[in-house]
Amino acid sequence: MLLGCIADDFTGGTDLASTLAAAGMRAVQTIGVPDDKIDDADAVIVALKSRTAPREQAVAESVAALRWLQAQGCRQFFFKYCSTFDSTPAGNIGPVIDALMDALDVPLTIACPAFPENGRTVYLGHLFVGDQLLSDSSMKDHPLTPMTDANLVRVLQPQTRHRVGLIAHGTVAAGAAAIENACTSTGSGIAIVDAITATDLHAIGRACAGQHLVTGGSGVAVGLPENFRLSGLLQRHDADTALPQIDGTAAIIAGSCSAATNAQVAHWLKQRPGYRVDVRRLLAGADVVGDALAWVRNQEPQTPVLVYATSTPDEVRAVQEQSGVEWASTQIEQALAEIAWALAQKGIRKFVIAGGETSGAVVKRLGIRALRIGPAIDPGVPWTSSIGGNPVALALKSGNFGTVDFFEKALMRLQ
Ligand code: ADP
Repeated sequence: MLLGCIADDFTGGTDLASTLAAAGMRAVQTIGVPDDKIDDADAVIVALKSRTAPREQAVAESVAALRWLQAQGCRQFFFKYCSTFDSTPAGNIGPVIDALMDALDVPLTIACPAFPENGRTVYLGHLFVGDQLLSDSSMKDHPLTPMTDANLVRVLQPQTRHRVGLIAHGTVAAGAAAIENACTSTGSGIAIVDAITATDLHAIGRACAGQHLVTGGSGVAVGLPENFRLSGLLQRHDADTALPQIDGTAAIIAGSCSAATNAQVAHWLKQRPGYRVDVRRLLAGADVVGDALAWVRNQEPQTPVLVYATSTPDEVRAVQEQSGVEWASTQIEQALAEIAWALAQKGIRKFVIAGGETSGAVVKRLGIRALRIGPAIDPGVPWTSSIGGNPVALALKSGNFGTVDFFEKALMRLQ
């Protein structure tokens, strides 16, 4: 195994696995640290649900994942976080990078969340979402990790004990050698690296050939497989994205409140059935899970259904003020996971899940341990199927990814 990856959420894991597969690596995603060895893979992505976990837990799980990947013989390690740098002032991006740097004994690493294909670019250390600064984008209203500062040097510095610096676009545009020189002369710490185009990402990837630890969004991983190929360690594997045939009805479970998911839910509801989880009733102790399942039972058989908690920023804020962020989020995630599990028991074997934390809760509840990566639906979101047992098809969508008709498109893609 060549590349060992640790992803701080499950949708980020499939995004990265899909990127590596498209770049010719055999990539497998595991849910948590696996018990066994994995064969026939060039890259393994250990997906954790650590983005908003307590800091000590996020660090411990990430280091455990690293130790497992080291034991598999990986030559390089990648820590994957969100392309919108989702974190709170306490972490967990900084603390996990610190722990991985210590464990690998590396003095310097880079941090680059850019994903130009999905509109995430970094210029002079500032993260843009489309044509808006991160802090002006809908990410400022995220239920768990509101991002109110676009300056990544300023965002990361309080999270880490390393000095955070910047490799600016002037250097990146000069190519891999210039980036490598900038890393060498920086010497130690964490360097935020600008990237606004795919060419930049490839140059950064080449410059990282000798780095033991790379951190970023899935975009910056796109250049890494080529390094292994150039050093003769990797054969080109044309991504085999065929998934096993999985029949039956599909369900969409949406727990993301991101702008893109709000638009996708609204688009779906124009023509198709959906059940809105009444979050206030749920938090007041009503049997909302039972109500949702009764509603599904009353739908036409074979009709794909949507069950959603997705709400507007104002409504989310009101709920959080009343019930507390952590408790409300966990209760909602658990309710959606319970609904998904009950639907799986009734024979539904295709799930589209919107939301990183939501995906984590659902996949864990379904008891899935590893995923095979299938065809991409939109950039960063592939279909996957569970490995082991009776396979389930899963599309794990990061909240802000996908076009407005993503749900419909995902179902079409699987037929
Ligand atoms: P994203 O990928 O958009 O970040 P996540 O699933 O990671 O989506 O995070 C969304 C969080 O918001 C989850 O913890 C979810 O339980 C919570 N949530 C969902 N609906 C509501 C709501 N109506 N009110 C408050 N919180 C909500």
